[in-house]
Amino acid sequence: MKKASLLSKLPSVDEIINHGRINEIVEDIPRTLITEKIRKTIEKYRKELLALKDDNIKEVKIDTETIVDEVLISCKKFMEMNLKEVINGTGVVLHTNLGRSILADELKEEIWAVASGYSTLEIDVETGKRGSRYSHVVELIRFITGAEDALVVNNNAAAVMLVLSTLGKDKEVIVSRGELVEIGGSFRIPDVMEQSGAKLVDVGATNKTHLWDYENAIGENTAALMKVHTSNYRILGFTEEISLKDMVELGKRRNIPVIEDLGSGVLIDLKKYGLTYEPTVQDSVAAGTDIVTFSGDKLLGGPQAGIIIGKKQFIDKMKKNPLTRAFRIDKLTIAALEATLRCYLREDYAVSTLPTLKMITEGVISINDRAEKLLEMITDLDLNMKIEIHDDYSQIGGGALPLEKLPTKVLKIKANNISTAQLEERLRHYEKPIFTRIQDDILIIDIRTIKERDFKAICDGLRNGVLSK
Ligand SMILES: *Cc1c(COP(=O)(O)O)cnc(C)c1O
Repeated sequence: MKKASLLSKLPSVDEIINHGRINEIVEDIPRTLITEKIRKTIEKYRKELLALKDDNIKEVKIDTETIVDEVLISCKKFMEMNLKEVINGTGVVLHTNLGRSILADELKEEIWAVASGYSTLEIDVETGKRGSRYSHVVELIRFITGAEDALVVNNNAAAVMLVLSTLGKDKEVIVSRGELVEIGGSFRIPDVMEQSGAKLVDVGATNKTHLWDYENAIGENTAALMKVHTSNYRILGFTEEISLKDMVELGKRRNIPVIEDLGSGVLIDLKKYGLTYEPTVQDSVAAGTDIVTFSGDKLLGGPQAGIIIGKKQFIDKMKKNPLTRAFRIDKLTIAALEATLRCYLREDYAVSTLPTLKMITEGVISINDRAEKLLEMITDLDLNMKIEIHDDYSQIGGGALPLEKLPTKVLKIKANNISTAQLEERLRHYEKPIFTRIQDDILIIDIRTIKERDFKAICDGLRNGVLSK
């Protein structure tokens, strides 16, 4: 058959719209949406046909029922929530693409109450006059960190931008070359610096920066010394960076504020839980740093936010910067942040309640218990696959503690009837998508980042994966 005659066989939009099975959905799905999906589907077929070589044309069949099926699937998919919960079997605790830190179930009520009802967001209950949306968290942050004052914006990138724009605009900020990091592929310290209007003065060499490098760079126009915690990579070997304490001393001596971008902002000493020491926010404040910034959704374990703490005189200036209004956080964020910070009033409660902390401090014995339980459930299904528990390592992710390898237990799965790549894809396309990884052609599910409430869905996903055609 000729291409032209096949093309003429393609149904028209009207033909499909009057199809019986399409008629059944017109009550639930906007007509304009259905028409658009029909047009797109027909167009897809037309393009495929046009792209085909004449020799291959014979194999092509134009089938109205298949087109209707496709339209129904794409309409149904459009009507469902696109942003939805998934199962994280990757073992990366702070997985930026899967939403970074997840919130504790215990905070549900506090957050929903503020979301679904009017709230004290910007009202002073005592006087009935206008209040500040930051007031709900400032006292808590001060109490937990020891800082004089605090301000919260949308994320740490915004926090750094606000700090630099307020203190450094049209002036110079001195940073070590070894600390000019890129975060998440789009946020580079030199670029943020430029956007903020501050002039970057980079000092030292990539691997070594000495105190005298900073000292020599200080001039009339110096607005601040800045330290960036290179949380997402490490330069190992012949290196030297000056301590925060030395930098603060230099700042004091020359009357220049010291800024630290801590990145992850951990509020508890992880060494106590067998992990590598990561500088805490409290240590940074205690060292006398004038301004410290960190994320709300990395090791802190709260919602996306950028927290700025430090000396009141500087925070006051930031509050007057118009960028603060542009970076203003929403009430949902404040509610989630306040509820998360409240957990820190008792450290053991924070560690046992906040999922991020719970997951990174979970011991391998307890992970193994869960692995065995899940293995048993899967084995009971008698699926056509090989499955075993193995030792492996999880990662913290989110740019925190990049070298830390957390001993964990994983399920290693090899299906007999489909390839590992196919199984991985089917799990990812499951109604509650399951994210796994492949290593040496074997599917790996890390139990550390999996909740017990997801076991059933994993079983169903695997069954569906190996059974469906
Ligand atoms: C993660 C990180 C940022 C960016 O924080 P966001 O909250 O993702 O905007 C900035 N600086 C450092 C050092 C970081 O690690």
